[in-house]
Amino acid sequence: MNSGSTIVANIRKGLVRNADTHLFCGRETSFRPQPGLINTKMGNPHPVGRICPVCKVTHAQSEAAHAYVPDRAKVERIADFVIRGKQVALYCFCNPEPCHCDRIKEAVDKLVQEKTEF
Ligand SMILES: [Zn+2]
Ligand SMILES: [Zn+2]
Repeated sequence: MNSGSTIVANIRKGLVRNADTHLFCGRETSFRPQPGLINTKMGNPHPVGRICPVCKVTHAQSEAAHAYVPDRAKVERIADFVIRGKQVALYCFCNPEPCHCDRIKEAVDKLVQEKTEF
């Protein structure tokens, strides 16, 4: 069975047509429910343009994205979707700007590779 893949998308553009699994990864306060969209509660605790409560500095967009470390258990769950052949879309509000979803995608892609290669 072929693995699926992950893509990072902007929720403002609506759900990606050819994705099977739609995961909202923005902050919970920005989640607007819609059919098929799952709230992963993987929002980035590092904000852009105001003092970060974690780092006590103000992050630029790419810094905030790079400061994010995805939760391993959630990365495992997303990787399982991909290994089962699903096309998984990760949504936030940043794409095509740098986004913490890029970190999630990297972690998922790496794990899928580790789990599927000999
Ligand atoms: Zn921070
Ligand atoms: Zn984002």
